[in-house]
Order: sequence, then C-alpha cells, then structure tokens
Amino acid sequence: MRITVLAGGVGGSRFVLGLREELRRREASGALAPGEAEVTVVVNTGDDLWLAGVRLMPDFDTLLYALAGVNDTERGWGRAGDSERVAEELREWGVGWPWFTLGDLDLGTHLARTAWLREGLTPSQVAARLQHRWELGVRLIPATDAEVDLHVEVADPDELDGTRTMHFQEWWTRYRASLPAVAFRQQGLDGAAPAPGVVEAILGADAVLLAPSNPVVSIGTILAIPGIREALDETHAPVVGVSPIIGGAVVRGMADACLPVIGVETDAAAVARHYGRRAGGGLLDGWLVDETDAPAAAALRADGFRAEAVPLWMRDPDTSAALAAAALALTTP
Ligand code: GDP
Ligand code: CA
Repeated sequence: MRITVLAGGVGGSRFVLGLREELRRREASGALAPGEAEVTVVVNTGDDLWLAGVRLMPDFDTLLYALAGVNDTERGWGRAGDSERVAEELREWGVGWPWFTLGDLDLGTHLARTAWLREGLTPSQVAARLQHRWELGVRLIPATDAEVDLHVEVADPDELDGTRTMHFQEWWTRYRASLPAVAFRQQGLDGAAPAPGVVEAILGADAVLLAPSNPVVSIGTILAIPGIREALDETHAPVVGVSPIIGGAVVRGMADACLPVIGVETDAAAVARHYGRRAGGGLLDGWLVDETDAPAAAALRADGFRAEAVPLWMRDPDTSAALAAAALALTTP
C-alpha cells in the first residue's frame, strides 16, 4: 500500500506521526506485512527562506525532527534541548532577524543544507541526504526544488500604491499575522516544477491524504506548483483530507488569518468546498471533520462528498493513530 501525504509543518508532522503509528500497529498485529506500506510526504516549501546566509526549510525540518524524535515538543518548533548562543552573536552583528531565533543545533542543519546546496545538490537531494541520519519510516520530499518562497502583500497607507510586500515568515512570526493581508504570492511560480518523485508519488499512490495543514499557506502553496494539481486530478488513488478547522476555529496556530484573504470562511465544510469535490472538478473524494462538526459532515454528504465526523484532536499517539485510521478508512467507500 503506497500512501502519499501532502503536509505542512506542525499539523503535518502530527498527522504523519499518527499515520506511522497506525501502520506500525497494523504491522505488529499482522494486518500488514512489514514494509508493505510505503509513506511519501510531499512537504510544503512556501515557508522556506534565506536568512543569515543559510537556507531554512522550516516545514521540512519540523517533519524531520518530529519523525526522528529530536523535536522540541514544548515550544513546538526546533530541536529539543537547543541553545541560542549563535543567535545571540548574530544579533550583536545585526545579521538575520532579531525576532527570528535560530537554535544552535538547528543552525547545524541549516549549515549542512547550505553547504550541500553550494556543492550543487538540489533541495530535494539535500532533503534525501538529511534523512539518512535517522530511521524515519517515511520518505519526505520537498514539493519543489524551485525557490518560490511565499510573500504576503499587506495594506499599508504609507505606501504609494497602498500595499507593501514581505516574506511570509516576517508576516507570520514578527507580526503574528496581525497586519491586514491583501494577497499571498509566490514569485516565479510559472517556471516552477514539482521536485523529482512528487508526481510519481501521487500517480503511483493507492491513497492520497491531505494532512490537517493550513489550507492556504501549506496545502495551498503545494497545490500552486504547476503539475501537482494536475497529478492529483489524474491519479487513480482516492484523495482524502482532514480538516484543520474544528468548531469554526483553528486548532493551533493562526490559519484563521489566512483563509479570509482567499475568501474562505473559517469553517470545516467551507474548507472542503474550497478544495472541491473531485466529481465536480475539485480535489477531494473524502473529508474528515471533527465529531463536534457532525452537521458539516451531513451537509457535505448531501453535496456528494464522502464525509465523516470523527475526533480530530491529535493529542497523543492513540488519538493521532485513530485519526490516520479514519482517513485511510474513508479512502475505501
Ligand atoms: P505549520 O506549517 O507549522 O503552520 O503547520 P501546518 O500548516 O502543517 O498545520 C497548521 C494547522 O494544523 C493549523 O491550521 C491547525 O489548525 C492544524 N492543527 C494543529 N493541530 C491539530 C490537531 O490536533 N488536529 C487537527 N485537526 N488540526 C490540527
Ligand atoms: Ca509552515
């Protein structure tokens, strides 16, 4: 069974951890032969950036660290037990962004990545090399090798045309998504292509799952890369997504600042309708909403979606594995 997941950082890694757990349990119980399930994760690259001379790939690293078990579970980002000595020095030098802390161990990853990029490796080749260090149990591929970092256009009355543009990370981390966003843009998108292996992973999958990641700045940025949407339309695999919205609010983070920018209500059914029903030219065969959103599931079923209401909170291995199992169950009618 080949499973391909589209994912961002935090929601993505929780979901992929749950999927890995569920598959391990099936292997332990004999329901799956060892190695029978292969998981490929297509990782959002929209958050990527150059900072202090190094290349950061935040969503990729979040997944890498979480799957390797070396992530900081309390802070929710970076490496466990990290220090910030280098970041303090960079602040003294006035290099980088003072409000964007890079941990020392984390910087080790960025330096290794940048060194390999300088040697001529592509981002996806670098990503493959970074995964050699740990036994992750899944394969991570950046959605694209192109540098199509996400920028945000914000309303600014001081500017001649009334707007100013900044990197997504500045809007998100420095301003906590509080500046009024007008649009999200990825420059050079026309010339971008999926990284090697991405289209194959989608076309060759038995199931495609959308993690409960930010529909705009994680899943949206993956879908915007020319060729990925087409592969999803073409694949014979069922496509099932999990709502990142529970009871009209985001579970963690600030995704509610992004949906209105693209004109979508912060609502589990609205996000499903935004992705669209496959039979109607959209993306989804199925959609999972939280048990508290059961009416949304009923409304979606009336619209022809395959939809179920199940517990969507990923609190621990049990709840995360159960969610992955529900997503897999929805792939087979
Ligand atoms: P980011 O790249 O770190 O911003 O993370 P993602 O885009 O992968 O995920 C962010 C989304 O994950 C947010 O919109 C949250 O609502 C969602 N999320 C986080 N934890 C959970 C959870 O336990 N259950 C569900 N359903 N969604 C979650
Ligand atoms: Ca992200």
